[in-house]
Amino acid sequence: MHEFSLMQSVLDTVEGAARENNAQRVTEVRLVIGDLAEAVFEAMEFAFEALTPQTVCEGAVLTMRGVAPRSRCAACGIEFEHDRYHWACPSCDSLATELLAGRELYIDAIEIEEPER
Ligand SMILES: [Zn+2]
Repeated sequence: MHEFSLMQSVLDTVEGAARENNAQRVTEVRLVIGDLAEAVFEAMEFAFEALTPQTVCEGAVLTMRGVAPRSRCAACGIEFEHDRYHWACPSCDSLATELLAGRELYIDAIEIEEPER
């Protein structure tokens, strides 16, 4: 299940950011995941639960937002949203389209608990 390696690299980044900010604890991790990123939400959640115990992310909430694929038609220039099966331009039926969004997977935000002062 490749979601484990995806989640591991997400957590490496989150832990690095937490360390830089002297966070005691991470309370929320928000991810943006394109529909074409091949990351199943349930599997990401499962990986998160499995990988976070004993880390600064233990007990944190994982929030994920999907992004619909969006492409630009090379023939007529319009931009359109589509699903993973329909790539043709809705205006001119061209298949010469360029994917603009939908394959991304990135950390949108993390919430941390700062040390008491
Ligand atoms: Zn077109």
